[in-house]
Amino acid sequence: MTEHPQHTDPTDNSIGNNLARVREQIAEACHRYGRDVGDVRLIAVSKTKPAAAVRTAIEAGHVDFGENQMQDALSKIPQFENSKLSWHYIGPLQSNKSKFIAGNFNWWHTMTRLDVAQRVSRKAVDVGKPVNVLIQINITNDPAKSGITSNELAPLIEQLLKSDLAGIKLRGLMTIGPQGANEAELRKCFAKLNALLQENQKRFGLASFDQLSMGMTGDLVPAIAEGATMVRVGSAIFGSR
Ligand SMILES: *Cc1c(COP(=O)(O)O)cnc(C)c1O
Repeated sequence: MTEHPQHTDPTDNSIGNNLARVREQIAEACHRYGRDVGDVRLIAVSKTKPAAAVRTAIEAGHVDFGENQMQDALSKIPQFENSKLSWHYIGPLQSNKSKFIAGNFNWWHTMTRLDVAQRVSRKAVDVGKPVNVLIQINITNDPAKSGITSNELAPLIEQLLKSDLAGIKLRGLMTIGPQGANEAELRKCFAKLNALLQENQKRFGLASFDQLSMGMTGDLVPAIAEGATMVRVGSAIFGSR
């Protein structure tokens, strides 16, 4: 019985234990691929789960939460006053819901359009809370997925910089890995996103354009191997949906 208590029962499904296991998986991947564990932020994706589940995760020391549906998110976020929390919007955003990003979310992972970014920025200036923004890339050009193509990235950044949006901070890129792909294919996709980040960071001289949101329950290890700074994990923490 020399094991750490967190390891004792791998079948225990409680959220706190799940979080500990995912953190451990992240630490192992970081060790294996020469990454600093402090450079990978775990976002617990609480979409469709009740506020009580979020509360349990907070009690286990967690602070970063991801939501993908505005209505669902707005039913939960106001229940938490904790200023240490960071909320991440990771779903598609209809422009009529864009006014809810600023003031509720610290991070918006799924920006794809200049006009929506302009709306979010205006609101962020109004409420005095800037939003960290990631641009979503459809790295495999999958017609079923949202996100812009790699070729559309530089022109979009150019437009964003021209628009001088005071309410948003351009922080990096996000992608969803292809479903059913093997480890090598996943790594190739994630490596592409990393290369795209580096290339545009240099091209536009954007020092803080340095975040890569990639990796979920099924593919967080290859994402960390290829430089993820944020992994978005739902079912491994909160159970299946
Ligand atoms: C649901 C979701 C996740 C988490 O998925 P799991 O497989 O449950 O970890 C991550 N990213 C996005 C964009 C999602 O919609």
